[in-house]
Amino acid sequence: MTHTPSSKKCRRLEPGRLVLASHNQGKLREIRELLSPFGLETVSAAELGLPEPIEDGNSFIANAEIKARFVAEKTGSVALADDSGLCVEALDEAPGIYSARWAGEPRDFDKAMEKLHHALTAKGADASKRAHFVCALSLCWPDGHVENFEGHVWGNLIWPPRGDRGFGYDPMFVAEGHQQSFAEMGAEAKKAISHRSEAFKQLLAACLR
Ligand code: IMP
Repeated sequence: MTHTPSSKKCRRLEPGRLVLASHNQGKLREIRELLSPFGLETVSAAELGLPEPIEDGNSFIANAEIKARFVAEKTGSVALADDSGLCVEALDEAPGIYSARWAGEPRDFDKAMEKLHHALTAKGADASKRAHFVCALSLCWPDGHVENFEGHVWGNLIWPPRGDRGFGYDPMFVAEGHQQSFAEMGAEAKKAISHRSEAFKQLLAACLR
């Protein structure tokens, strides 16, 4: 479950089919956009009718690797998984790897954001609003070889949520040095600074150079 250091020589991702090990439409949209210049043929695990494995790892990278290994084994293709979430300083880094689960089943991120707001309010008016998003990417080949990467973006939580673009906790998050929430700024501006873009930059430099 190691994080690939940028100096290490990584296995190259050759042109061909890449299965995206995700059922999250917001993530899939952003991942496809980030991969669009590289001529890879992408298909999602959801489109292939694959179930989601149990994510019982204790880190973002561990969970990304569980998803990527599962899909690579099931499909015989290279698989890419993204495990991500929001870590809030005043809540001891919660919801963290449980970010999706805080939205319940079926997923309701308005409720998840309210839950987050209440948890933060309970910490008192002076509680820090600092938070960061994490994105772990795991690229797994059918022979079991894996390369992992992790990106971050720091910022502050706001209430009430603002904006109707993006997904998940985007309306509550304002990145450091910015005024608009991720849900107000739109795809291109988010892409320039997001945790997902940061992790992709590392992956592209290491495996698609
Ligand atoms: P998982 O990686 O499938 O366990 O889900 C991660 C959850 O973290 C998502 O369902 C979102 O709620 C949240 N999340 C991850 N990345 C982002 C993002 O870029 N914006 C907003 N929420 C995110």
